[in-house]
Amino acid sequence: MRPLILAANWKMHLGPAGAAAFLREFLAGYHPASNREVWFFVPSVSVAAAAAALRDATAFRVGVQNVYWEPKGAFTGETSVPMAVEAGASAALVGHSERRHVFGETDAETGLKVRALLAADVIPVLCVGETLAERERDQTLSVVRRQLAVLDGLDRAALARLVIAYEPVWAIGTGKTATKEQAQTAHQFIRSLVSNLFSTGLASAMRILYGGSVKPENISELMAMDDIDGALVGGASLNPESFGKIVCH
Ligand code: PEP
Repeated sequence: MRPLILAANWKMHLGPAGAAAFLREFLAGYHPASNREVWFFVPSVSVAAAAAALRDATAFRVGVQNVYWEPKGAFTGETSVPMAVEAGASAALVGHSERRHVFGETDAETGLKVRALLAADVIPVLCVGETLAERERDQTLSVVRRQLAVLDGLDRAALARLVIAYEPVWAIGTGKTATKEQAQTAHQFIRSLVSNLFSTGLASAMRILYGGSVKPENISELMAMDDIDGALVGGASLNPESFGKIVCH
């Protein structure tokens, strides 16, 4: 059984004080069941506060929402992997649709970030997913295949730490969720691709999260699907009660 990951993406919300207050309230009210993990992708300035708030809690992990691939240097405004680790992060989102579509991040840059994270033993959560126009042109699977090609050449031992998040762009922050069948089709395709590219063992152990307008009302039906191993939750993770209901569904 692959342990479920219920992951919060706070986007550009909650500074250090807000993060600590959120986590205090969350920990007082909600306890994940066994075989479940709760991850928080917080703004980089809030990583240290979140890590401190979760220091004594088991089954929790703090991650950053973005990193730069060089360890240090003249890259104003960027956060390196070693800096994120020093602040308390042990995972990072890579290729989130807002990075790709708002900031123009390319597949090549996404690949460099995945490599930098794996080299530092930090878990990359590689986000993939098609736009509405691509889905309408029936290109969902080919887009996902292209986005996953950044994994080519990585060694299997390192890849065992990778998590993939399938997030159709048209479902992020829009209130439109993929149906459980649409999500399952994409997840099954991703798992079979990983199996063909690397190995069946790696594919069957890999956790593939669904993201896109997940809320307390739809979490159970999505998590009941065979190839969905958790959720990456944006909007509904900003309220301790709604994220708590998702974690404890
Ligand atoms: C996200 O930010 O990764 C996301 C899925 O957002 P939302 O849940 O708000 O659609």
